[in-house]
Amino acid sequence: MNFEPETYMTTDDSSGLIIVAVDGYSSSGKSTMAKALARNVGYRYIDSGAMYRAVTLYALRNNMISSDRSVDTTRVAADLDQIRIDFILTSDGQHTTLNGEDVEKEIRSMHVSNHVSPIAAIPAVRHALVARQQQFGREKGIVMDGRDIGTTVFPDAELKIFVNASAETRAQRRFQELMAKGAEVNYEEVLANVVHRDHIDETREESPLRKADDAIVLDNSCMTEDEQNRWMLDRFNETISRRG
Ligand code: C5P
Repeated sequence: MNFEPETYMTTDDSSGLIIVAVDGYSSSGKSTMAKALARNVGYRYIDSGAMYRAVTLYALRNNMISSDRSVDTTRVAADLDQIRIDFILTSDGQHTTLNGEDVEKEIRSMHVSNHVSPIAAIPAVRHALVARQQQFGREKGIVMDGRDIGTTVFPDAELKIFVNASAETRAQRRFQELMAKGAEVNYEEVLANVVHRDHIDETREESPLRKADDAIVLDNSCMTEDEQNRWMLDRFNETISRRG
C-alpha cells in the first residue's frame, strides 16, 4: 500500500459531486445506511472497516498475532506494501479482496472481529489505509463509512454523519446478522466484542473514534432501516441544494 497521504487531492467542485463521511460505533448500522445512500444517489460506497479487517486477516494468516492477542507490529508494518485491498462487485453485492482473493466472508467472522481493533490502532496501518482511502475519494462521488472518515480521512467532506445507538441495540443487531449467516455465536459474546472494540477505538492514540465537530449526529436506536435511509437521503439532498 504505497500511497502517500501527501498525494491526496480531490477534484475541483465543478463536478457537483460530494464526499459523504459516515462514522460511528461498531454495528451502529452505518454501513447499511451508507450503502443504501450510495445506491440511491449513484455514488461509490467504500467500507473502510473492511480494509482494517482484511489487514487483520492477513496478520492472522501469517502468524503475526499470538494466542494471547499480542501483535507483532513490526512485522505487520513491514508487510504493508505487500497487502493489496480492493473491492469487487459480485452478484451478491460488493466484496472485499485481499491480494486478489475474495475474503468477504472471512473478514466478517468473530475471529477477525476479536483481533481487528489492536491492528487498527497501529499507526503504520492507519497511515497506509488512510492514504488508500483518500485515493478512493479523489474523484468525489463517494460514501465512505468508518471511525475517522470525517475527522482524518476527509476532514473537508461536504456531509458528515455520526451514527450511534446503545451498545445493547448494536450487539442485538450484530447478533441477528451473524445468526442469519449461520454463524455459531451467542449474544453475550457479541456484546462483549462490541463494547471492547468501542473502548479500543475510542482510546487509541492515532485518530481515535470521535465525532467531527461539524458532523450531524443520528441516534438510530428506534428507527427502522427505511426511516434511517430516508433520513440520510434528506441530509444528502439538503447538502446538495445548499451548494446550489
Ligand atoms: O466498521 P467495522 O466494525 O467493520 O470495523 C472494524 C474495525 O476496524 C473497528 O472496530 C475499528 O477498530 C477499525 N476501524 C477503524 N477505522 C475505520 C474503520 C474501522 O479503526 N475508519
